[in-house]
Amino acid sequence: MSTPKILILGAGYGGLLTTLKLQKKLNYNEAEITLVNKHNYHYITTWLHEPAAGTASADHARVNLDQIIDMNKVNFVKGTVQSIQPEEQTVTLESGEVLSYDYLVIGLGSEPETFGIQGLKEHAFSIRSINAVRQIREHIEYMFAKYKNEPERTDYLTFVVGGAGFTGIEFCGELADRVPELCQEFDVDPDLVKIYCIEAAPTALPGFDPELVNYAMDVLSRKGIEFKIGTPIKECTENGVLLANGEEIKSKTVVWAAGVRGNSIVEKSGFEVMRGRVKVDEYLRAPGYENVFVVGDCALIFNAEGRPYPPTAQIAVQEGECLGDNLAALIRGEVMQPFVPALQGTLASLGKGEGIGMVGSKKLFGSTAALMKKASDLRYLWKIGGVGLAMKKVRL
Ligand code: FAD
Ligand code: NAD
Repeated sequence: MSTPKILILGAGYGGLLTTLKLQKKLNYNEAEITLVNKHNYHYITTWLHEPAAGTASADHARVNLDQIIDMNKVNFVKGTVQSIQPEEQTVTLESGEVLSYDYLVIGLGSEPETFGIQGLKEHAFSIRSINAVRQIREHIEYMFAKYKNEPERTDYLTFVVGGAGFTGIEFCGELADRVPELCQEFDVDPDLVKIYCIEAAPTALPGFDPELVNYAMDVLSRKGIEFKIGTPIKECTENGVLLANGEEIKSKTVVWAAGVRGNSIVEKSGFEVMRGRVKVDEYLRAPGYENVFVVGDCALIFNAEGRPYPPTAQIAVQEGECLGDNLAALIRGEVMQPFVPALQGTLASLGKGEGIGMVGSKKLFGSTAALMKKASDLRYLWKIGGVGLAMKKVRL
C-alpha cells in the first residue's frame, strides 16, 4: 500500500498544531505530510493589535516555520490555496500547482465579516495578517505627517474603530498607548487626536461579564477612547463613517474589527457553511467527507446548549492537537477520540500593563490580567517552539 498523504492548509494555530502533533507522533515512513501556507512564517494573530497600533514591530509577531517544523518530516509548500476539489481529493494553488491528498486538513483562518455594509471593503482596514497590520501602522503615522502639512484637516487625526468586541477593545488599548508617542514625534497637540470605538450592541464586549466590561471601558475612556455604544456603523466612505443614528464621523482611518467569518475559499469550494464556517462533527470532519477535517476559524462547533463556540486561538490550538492525534490514529488503524474543548478562560489586554480576564469563575483586573495573558502567551510559544522561542519572544 502506498504511503497515505496528509495535506494541511494553513499554518495558523489549527494547522500548525496539527502539523506539530503529526511530526511528533508519526515516523518518517508512516505518512507523507504536506503543509501549505501563504508565507514561510506563522504569525501570532493574538498579538496583531500591537504592531497594528505600532506598539510592537510586526516582526515580533512572526515565527519562521523552519524554526519550529522538522522540514525532513514535513514538505512545506509556500503557496496560496485557490480552491479545494473534495470529490477529486485535490487542492489547487494560485500558482496552478495541484496537490492531491488522502486526508485533508483545512485551517485557512478567517476574513473580516462586513455584513454587506457599503464601503467597508474599499475604505476600511482590518487586523488580519502581518501585511495588513504593517499597512495600518504606516497609515497612522502617515496621517500624523499629513496633518502637519494641512493643519486644518483634523480628520487626519480622527481614528475610528468599528466594533467593541475583543479585537476592537485590544486595538483601542494599544492605539491609546501609541498616541502620546506619535504626538511627541510629530509635535501634535494630543487634544486634537480623537479615537472613537463604535459598537452596535447595547454594550461593549457583548456577553462578557458586566463588571469586567465596565472596568475595560473605564480604563480605555481614561486613556482617551470615546465610546459610542448602541450605534451601528451603517456605511463607510473615503471620508469616514455614517452611523445608524444619522451621525457622520469624518476620518481617514477606519479599522473594522466587528467580527469574522470563515475563509471564503471553503464556501467557494462547495462546502456547506454558516458565516463561512463548516459545521463539523465530533471528529472535526466536514459533513459528507470522511477524509476532510476542518480546524480553527473555518470550523463551527457547538456547546451543550447548542450555542456556537466563538472562533478563538484557544479552541484552534486544542482542535489542532486533537486532530493530530486522530490522524495518527487513523493512519495506524486505531480509534479516533471525539473533540471536546476545555475552555481555560478569556484574557484580554487593554494596553501596557492593563487587562481583564475571566479564568474559571475568577475575574481578573489590571496588571494581574495582563500578567496572566503574558503567561498564556509564554505557554503557547513554549508549546510550538520550546523554551528558546518562549524566551526570545515574550516581552515582560
Ligand atoms: P489563523 O491563525 O488566522 O491562520 C490561518 C493561516 O492560514 C495563516 O497562516 C494564513 O496565512 C493562512 N492562509 C490563509 N489563507 C490562505 C490561502 N489562501 N492559502 C494559503 N494559506 C492561507 N483568540 C484567543 O483565543 N485569544 C486571544 O487572546 C485572541 N486575541 C486575538 C487578537 C486579535 C487582534 C485577533 C485578530 C484575534 C484574536 N484571537 C484570539 C482570535 C484568534 O487569533 C483566531 O481565532 C485564530 O487565529 C484562529 O486560528 P486559525 O488557525 O483558524 O487561523
Ligand atoms: P466579535 O464578533 O467578537 O466582536 C465584534 C463586535 O462588533 C461585536 O460587539 C458586534 O456587536 C460589533 N459590531 C457588529 N456590527 C457592527 C456595526 N455595524 N457597527 C458597530 N459595531 C458592530 O469579533 P472580534 O472582536 O473581531 O473577535 C473575533 C473572534 O476572536 C472572537 O471569537 C473573539 O472572542 C476572538 N478574540 C479573542 C480575543 C481575546 O480572547 N483576547 C481578542 C480578540 C479576538
